[in-house]
Amino acid sequence: MLTPKGLKVNGMTISLDDARSEICFVSHAHSDHTAAFSRKRSIIASEETFLIMGKEPKSFPVSAITFHKAGHMLGAVQLSAETEQGKFVYTGDFALHDSYTAGAAKILQCDTLMIDTTYCQPHLRMPPRGQAVDKIKEFTRKNDRSIIVFGAYVKGKSQELVKILNKECSIAPVVNEKAAKICAAYEKCGVKLDYISAGTDEAEEQMRSPFVAIMPPNQVNFSFGSKLSEAFSMDVKTAVATGWAAVTKFPVDKAFALSDHADFKDTMRYIYGSEAKKIICANSNKNAAADYLKSIGIDAIARNGTKKARQTTLAKC
Ligand SMILES: [Zn+2]
Repeated sequence: MLTPKGLKVNGMTISLDDARSEICFVSHAHSDHTAAFSRKRSIIASEETFLIMGKEPKSFPVSAITFHKAGHMLGAVQLSAETEQGKFVYTGDFALHDSYTAGAAKILQCDTLMIDTTYCQPHLRMPPRGQAVDKIKEFTRKNDRSIIVFGAYVKGKSQELVKILNKECSIAPVVNEKAAKICAAYEKCGVKLDYISAGTDEAEEQMRSPFVAIMPPNQVNFSFGSKLSEAFSMDVKTAVATGWAAVTKFPVDKAFALSDHADFKDTMRYIYGSEAKKIICANSNKNAAADYLKSIGIDAIARNGTKKARQTTLAKC
């Protein structure tokens, strides 16, 4: 059912988060999943994903396919399809917990599960999400006389951080032009966000006293913090919000393990809960994940992998 070009269903081939066939499913708006938007393709995606991508939503008739919340960022959906070989599910990037801007993914039962394996390694475990939010609250409160700059991905994570700062800290952060555009798309989808666009008069006014800003994570580090401190003659604290903070050191004052992915534990919870007989590991770390799953007796392969997996079933594990 899954060919190198995509999923064969109902006489169509639908590529999954790439642009290898004419019809493409785009699970969500992160750039490593949206190649189809820059090619002339018929796109299947949620209305929110079209809006975040700045494209007009189009209706596209599909049968034998359903979509389900993926819990990763606004508009992220899982795909479920009835094929001749049984039920197939592709999770896309997913999370089993609610976030401030997206509802949790449900575990879908199926025969074949193609699952995102970004964190499918035993050491990749996240602390409870509430803990990361509490630490963000404490950090902003403690440093309310300093400029605070958070590093967070422009799409998805920045908007969630805006919402957390609004709701939990009563702060409207300054965001750059790109993040502001995505915030506006979120608002069109009904997610209320209070933010200030950099470069506006409002931002200039706000930045006369200690303020909170969100910037792309690759720009936020100690060196940037000290340049900013010099420019504004104020103390500056730097931070990042990413799931990788659970296992990696970042050159900032504080790193918060705020993830929008399922960690190892939740990925395994999905795999077992789906009762799938076959697992296809997709996206980041797919080869390492397939090797790990095979090592514990699960019938798994990496997407487009050539290695044959052992024929075992989850029930036997
Ligand atoms: Zn993603």
